[in-house]
Amino acid sequence: MGMTRREMLKAGALTVLGAGAVGGAVTRIVGTRSPSAGRTKESEADKWTREASYYERLEEGEVRCLLCPTACELAPGIRGACRVRENQGGVLKTLVYGRAASVDIDPVEKKPFHHLLPGSSTFSFSTAGCNMSCRNCHNWQLAQSPPERLPARDLQPRALVDAARLRHIPIITGTYAEPLVYAEYLLDVARLGNEHGLLSTMVTAGRVERRPLLDLCRELKAVKVDLKSMSEEFYRTNCGGNLGPVLDTIRTVKEQGLWLEIVYLVIPTLNDGDSEIKRASRWLLENVGPDVPLHFNRFHPHHRLRNLPPTPYETMDRCHGIARSEGVNFVYTGNLPGHPAESTYCPGCGELVLQRRGYQLGENHIQNGNCAWCAEELPGLWS
Ligand code: SF4
Repeated sequence: MGMTRREMLKAGALTVLGAGAVGGAVTRIVGTRSPSAGRTKESEADKWTREASYYERLEEGEVRCLLCPTACELAPGIRGACRVRENQGGVLKTLVYGRAASVDIDPVEKKPFHHLLPGSSTFSFSTAGCNMSCRNCHNWQLAQSPPERLPARDLQPRALVDAARLRHIPIITGTYAEPLVYAEYLLDVARLGNEHGLLSTMVTAGRVERRPLLDLCRELKAVKVDLKSMSEEFYRTNCGGNLGPVLDTIRTVKEQGLWLEIVYLVIPTLNDGDSEIKRASRWLLENVGPDVPLHFNRFHPHHRLRNLPPTPYETMDRCHGIARSEGVNFVYTGNLPGHPAESTYCPGCGELVLQRRGYQLGENHIQNGNCAWCAEELPGLWS
């Protein structure tokens, strides 16, 4: 006779159900057994293990994670789909509090934020883990690894904020993998950063439940969200996720008054059709208005999407043209150094106000947040 669902759960025999299981009203059973330690000694890992903030206890020692719509239900010893949250004796633990697997200083234009302290640096950090599994992920080694398999440094919030201050870096960004899965760590970094006048941001794919998102919105100043497609099917088959929560996140970030920018990675044949680009532009116009910057980034073959070519230049121009003609005021192209649409133009007079080439700034005609040519107020956090 086959095992019951509960027996299978306890045995750790059920793993990620797949994208079709996320976000719906079905009972989710998601998880994997803890991997055996790789590069990290068990005793070292203890200092990065904390009780998670968003979960509920179920029967017989099981827990349900309430951080993201995957809603993993985990028996003791079983880890969530993001690989960084685990049921330890009936308590859901984050395994990555202060466990920085990647740290760097980036131009803010790289995130990209084009209307946020242009020309500034940001102190970027990430742990392992992600709650999606995009076939084109550029950070898959980080995003798709359990934390034990990656070298990491201990960078607790105090040390991280001090490191940024010491270098006179005004911005801190949770980025690279998926900052939502290390929400507790990011929140404490942002809280401490706020006490010292630093501006905290995150670069996210946006699959998160409302309560943790509102907590993050209270501490962060700006968020960049990847809108990967307007198709549920694309999210399911290419990303192991779902679209609805991402749209909710975009709306909520705007409603909460944070600075918001959107990136749409244009992948040949998968999400580059005229009607989809039009739908994305219209949805943004109707839900967050014409002044939220929309970046169309060029795709390069990567990870499990090496069979597709880089996005043709003409496609990038076509997407840019559609969004502009629909009425989005600030439409950018990314991963195309030298393209005129890297720069910012005043929607009032059409003049160049902020010139960019790659991550380098050129001419700057913004004065106190206004266009120096026609005095139009330009949306953003400029100083
Ligand atoms: S954050 Fe991780 S453990 Fe929690 S529901 Fe999402 S994938 Fe599962």
